[in-house]
Amino acid sequence: MSQHVLVAGGGIGGLGATIALARQGVPSMVVEQAQAFGEVGAGLQLGPNAVRVLADWGLRDALDAVAAWPEDLCVRDAADGRELGHLRLGSDIVQRHGQPYACLHRADLHALLLHAAQVQTGIQWHLATRVAGVTERSDTVKVALDTGETLIASAVVGADGLWSRVRHAVADTLPPQATGHIAYRGLIPAGALPEALRTPRVQVWLGPHLHVVHYPVRRGEAFNVVAVASGRAPAALNAQSWSEPAAGIELQVALGSVHPALSAWLDAVSTWTRWVLHDRAPLNGPHAMASERIALLGDAAHPMRPYLAQGAAMALEDAWVLGRLVADPATPDWPQRLARYAALRWARNAKVQSRSRRNGVVFHARGPLRWARNAAMALLGERLMDNAWLYRGPGTP
Ligand SMILES: Cc1cc2nc3c(=O)[nH]c(=O)nc-3n(C[C@H](O)[C@H](O)[C@H](O)COP(=O)(O)OP(=O)(O)OC[C@H]3O[C@@H](n4cnc5c(N)ncnc54)[C@H](O)[C@@H]3O)c2cc1C
Repeated sequence: MSQHVLVAGGGIGGLGATIALARQGVPSMVVEQAQAFGEVGAGLQLGPNAVRVLADWGLRDALDAVAAWPEDLCVRDAADGRELGHLRLGSDIVQRHGQPYACLHRADLHALLLHAAQVQTGIQWHLATRVAGVTERSDTVKVALDTGETLIASAVVGADGLWSRVRHAVADTLPPQATGHIAYRGLIPAGALPEALRTPRVQVWLGPHLHVVHYPVRRGEAFNVVAVASGRAPAALNAQSWSEPAAGIELQVALGSVHPALSAWLDAVSTWTRWVLHDRAPLNGPHAMASERIALLGDAAHPMRPYLAQGAAMALEDAWVLGRLVADPATPDWPQRLARYAALRWARNAKVQSRSRRNGVVFHARGPLRWARNAAMALLGERLMDNAWLYRGPGTP
């Protein structure tokens, strides 16, 4: 058993790690607390950096079957509706960064990763099983399960998300911080929208203390809407739930008065769910991502605010880099591999975490900062919005 890598968590990051390891012939045990893999969450945008990872794993056709490919991203003022900025996507972003920009349902991404993992050999699945704690030993890692059993692995990948248990053995035992921002998400079947609104576009609306993003998913058969309001969290909110129901009226109160074109989108959502957004301070060194035989990956290592739309993308990049290092003769054992993994990943993840925080401040700005933001977008246009350092990917280790 000890040649196996134990992957804690079967979310996007955990499945990505499992695929990356299996492609190099490394067997893994996936330990997932949920009873079954099911549909949770809502839409995701994947920049060219994440699409590159999926393409490298041979999953471009599978992605084509479930994604929508927006032609542009348009930023508008939530109060008066005027356009503030515009970024060409579609074939233009392929020319600039080598891969397209995708929008898809999180459940569809999860399902395609699960299928890609399940066709690999050497993977053991432990569902309805929770990792309670991990202890690093000189040549193995002991993993305690909530059933009282233990598993022994040659290495552990902690991909157990925002409230990670594996993190306690590597970085710290502190809980993530509530940001004071609440995200409301809804899915609109295309048929429930006026035809004029069914466009292949990512649209972002910015207002004081709020922003709203909507985009097509499922090849345009549905549209995902996410509205974020900063302020006090309503009482009795379940901080750890991905699917807490929310009343439309609560969102209306949180957003206040908005432009009628934006109201049309909000009114078309029949069911809202809400999340309390949490994050952690940006990583401050490689020590916070891995010890000798335990690697943290995705939200377990670097949870971020969703204002650069890169949390899942960074989890996939982490997994891709880990897989490359398994194949690299320069890192023949786990301590060397994980030291290199952490050295390669921490600074990029930290930069994405801090840019995401900064975007939140800029998106929700009022007063002089709002004026400066709008002026900068008008002046610099695409140069401000096209993140070449990000979209070109992590580089080959
Ligand atoms: C509103 C919002 C919008 C977002 N939009 C985007 C976007 O557009 N683009 C993007 O790239 N990212 C986006 N993200 C971020 C993205 O959803 C996350 O970064 C991503 O899901 C993290 O994946 P993960 O696998 O690290 O963690 P998770 O998806 O949280 O998976 C963790 C898994 O571990 C399991 N688990 C937890 N604890 C244990 C345990 N002790 N034992 C066993 N199993 C355990 C959980 O059940 C879960 O299956 C968004 C996030 C939010 C909240």
